[in-house]
Amino acid sequence: MAGHMTPEEFRRYGRQVVDWIADYQEKIESYPVLSQAGPGEVLNALPASPPEKGEGFDAVLADLDRVIMPGITHWQHPGFFAYFPANASGPAILGDLLSAGLGVQGMLWATSPACTELETRTIDWLAELLDLPGRFRSDGTGGGVIQDSASSAALVAILAALHRADGGAAGRDGITRRHTLYISSQTHSSLEKAAKIAGIGAANVRVVDVDPATLAMDPAHLDALLTEDTAAGALPVMVCATIGTTSTTAVDPVPAIGEVCRRHGVWLHVDAAYAGVAAVCPEFRWVNDGLAGYADSYSTNPHKWLLTNFDCNAMWVADRGPLIGALSILPEYLRNQATTSGEVIDYRDWQIPLGRRFRALKLWSVIRWYGAEGLREHVRTGVRLARDLASWIDADPGFELLTPHPFGLVCFRPRWDGMPDEEADAATLRLMERLNASGALYLTHTKVGGRVLLRMAIGSPATRDKHVREAWRRIREEAAG
Ligand SMILES: *Cc1c(COP(=O)(O)O)cnc(C)c1O
Repeated sequence: MAGHMTPEEFRRYGRQVVDWIADYQEKIESYPVLSQAGPGEVLNALPASPPEKGEGFDAVLADLDRVIMPGITHWQHPGFFAYFPANASGPAILGDLLSAGLGVQGMLWATSPACTELETRTIDWLAELLDLPGRFRSDGTGGGVIQDSASSAALVAILAALHRADGGAAGRDGITRRHTLYISSQTHSSLEKAAKIAGIGAANVRVVDVDPATLAMDPAHLDALLTEDTAAGALPVMVCATIGTTSTTAVDPVPAIGEVCRRHGVWLHVDAAYAGVAAVCPEFRWVNDGLAGYADSYSTNPHKWLLTNFDCNAMWVADRGPLIGALSILPEYLRNQATTSGEVIDYRDWQIPLGRRFRALKLWSVIRWYGAEGLREHVRTGVRLARDLASWIDADPGFELLTPHPFGLVCFRPRWDGMPDEEADAATLRLMERLNASGALYLTHTKVGGRVLLRMAIGSPATRDKHVREAWRRIREEAAG
């Protein structure tokens, strides 16, 4: 029977694992970007039952190559242009390894003071790097916290907003009257999901109109819906504005939306999951417009475009009172002197679960390794490559380009001259399938105004000019048939 892995064994296998990852980084371009595995292929290659006797770690590494790798889609491949990027980086991987090595559960300050205090410092650093408002700093009325995802941040924001809107009544008695949430057709699906989880109900999610050209939320329609709902006896809980929507990176007018929220006394959450980190560059600080004056909560994902391995969402609130009011429960077994003294932060009160990983280690590692300069360079590279691609698309009469494209995402489609819309959309999807099956690149699609568009999101750390050039060459060639 195998006992615990000894430090000596760990040293040996650990070196093998680190070598394995470094080899993977070196040869990543030799894999097809999109996994070619069919449903059940990986599952059926795995034994149905667990081993009775322990096995050597060599056996795991052998199966990693044999069984697991064929079922991997290579998110770090320079030809990965699907969804949004999920950046990994050396310092983040090592930071996460250290977190695993320490095996800390950071639910309370007292369960590892460094886990809490490094997070406080690091999230304040990130607020400074992005030039976020002073209210979001931990020495102000609010503060930041690392969540697992923007979806969790949205749910936490709704719960805090609910607490502020009804003075804690829903948390105590359950929701006893109609509560409403305001989004647009372009808002991420996690908001509707959060409304269902929070008990607001999908039927009480109000969809605000968007400008058909820019896909930005219409503040006048928001105002009208809020007035109508309040008159009908509903309690508006929260409005979610988005900076850089998932479909096309559309930008909602936060200052105008914030003005409406203030007038109606409604919580404003700003979801900048993908695009918010662009504010590391001074030329992108406009993404913060309206945050200082109006946002009650804000979230962005270093795990998308800021070189920090999944999972790492950064969430800030302007006032931590309603957040802690909504989520704090202190059972006897968690009582401790530090918590009672009020001198420390217990981040369990800022999130849904009790337990929490030491995620600050990887973000701290990333910020120290790259510095502000390196982070800016990464964002600028993605934006520059996206602009190059957009200029080639724009110059090609066979293609149509969606504008604006302020960040690293470019949306476009072949014109398929003379084809009826429905056939053209089907042809665009078939083109995408052929490109993805080639293994050289991976694109996804969206729909705007009922029409299919291809999405090409540039921002993988490995993507260089030649990869974007090659992708465009293939797209043109495939479209020409
Ligand atoms: C990706 C995305 C989300 C969801 O992010 P997770 O961290 O995966 O939950 C939410 N909102 C927007 C605008 C996004 O682009």
